[in-house]
Amino acid sequence: MATYTTTEVRALTCDMETDCLAPVTHIDNRGFTYCKRHGVMRQYDVPCRQLRAWEKRELERNGSIYYDTAYTFKEHLRVFYPEEYARRFNAQPD
Ligand SMILES: [Zn+2]
Repeated sequence: MATYTTTEVRALTCDMETDCLAPVTHIDNRGFTYCKRHGVMRQYDVPCRQLRAWEKRELERNGSIYYDTAYTFKEHLRVFYPEEYARRFNAQPD
């Protein structure tokens, strides 16, 4: 049963260089993550876009995100965490 209460958070690291300590801001279409500088470099080779703040949090708690779809956080909850979605939004319909 999916829950949304994971407390373990791992820091994302830049996958371009093992010793790059810059904060992660980008993701490519294969799921590798990069800092801003390396993400922009990566864009020359493969599709690579900026991570949304909630997507970064989701990856840090070992969740999954889609590269290609423009899911909002609310849609993401609805698909992957229906109980959490119901808890948050059913009491307050749009
Ligand atoms: Zn980097």
